[in-house]
Amino acid sequence: MPKHDMTRGQLGALDFLRAGQTSFFRLPVARPDGGPLDDALRGARAAILGVPWDGGVTIHPGARHAPFAVRQASVVLPGFGPDAGVDVFRFLRAVDAGNVAVTSLLPELAATTIESDVADIMRGGAAPFLVGGDHSITLPALRAVAKARGPVGLVHVDAHADTSDGSMWGGVSHHGTWLRQALSEGLVDGKRLIQIGLRGPWKDDEEHAVVHAAGGRIVTVDDFDAVGGAGVAELARRTVGDAATYLTIDVDAIDPAFAPGTGTPVAGGLTSREVLRLVRALARVQLVGMDVVELCPVLDVGGATALLAAHLLFEGLAIACQARAS
Ligand code: MN
Ligand code: MN
Repeated sequence: MPKHDMTRGQLGALDFLRAGQTSFFRLPVARPDGGPLDDALRGARAAILGVPWDGGVTIHPGARHAPFAVRQASVVLPGFGPDAGVDVFRFLRAVDAGNVAVTSLLPELAATTIESDVADIMRGGAAPFLVGGDHSITLPALRAVAKARGPVGLVHVDAHADTSDGSMWGGVSHHGTWLRQALSEGLVDGKRLIQIGLRGPWKDDEEHAVVHAAGGRIVTVDDFDAVGGAGVAELARRTVGDAATYLTIDVDAIDPAFAPGTGTPVAGGLTSREVLRLVRALARVQLVGMDVVELCPVLDVGGATALLAAHLLFEGLAIACQARAS
């Protein structure tokens, strides 16, 4: 990428073509040649970090390619957020923080490397916006966030509860166990936990009992239909309150008709319009970090799911503007 004024927001179309590189949203790249992340942020208040890790997937691998697919999909999105009323990228001095250097050849280093990069971003004064990767990346991200901010509120959008004890797959951690672990490690304030988009069939009621025992709320797709999107958003805002909150979006919460590019699809999910409206309605929530996970580009159709992931990220960044502006 050319030398770039970090306060300017996105590269213009012609500069982008000349540079020939695909960063998230045509943003400046914080560390084009590696190096320490916290030093590289230079005043950025939001850093978008790719996490090409799918070692936690149980069925269909491929989410490791998602950061690259979202970069490519995101170049068509301009920066002005109608609700935020500002150029979101310029306001946040947002940057592409590159990828976490994780590889399935060194699985034992994955979680600590992810945690360390997220911690560096926070130390640099920016909010981390992660693009997975499978959902197991949320656990190390929450470890870093909770270390800095204490137990956080959590808005968890997903078809699945992700509170498995891992027994189905031989008792190991995977993309369906991270929330159970996060609760047991005290990273999430159970009373400020809300899950949205869950739907059956599921193994048994035990996973949901874990959430209820922690004091969390579950909003199934049937609840969503009964209460309506605005009602669910209001419930989410009331649940997390005014304190630090993390937003995690598993793209399988969205119906496979809108988000086919994912490894564990479940029929009967939210529409893309519903989920985007839900995120927009979280404006003024004190968002300290966000991730979009479980996009599997090889299963995607025409890049629809990658584009939706880019839009979800954009709306999350727009919320971060409003939280800081209020
Ligand atoms: Mn899921
Ligand atoms: Mn999940």
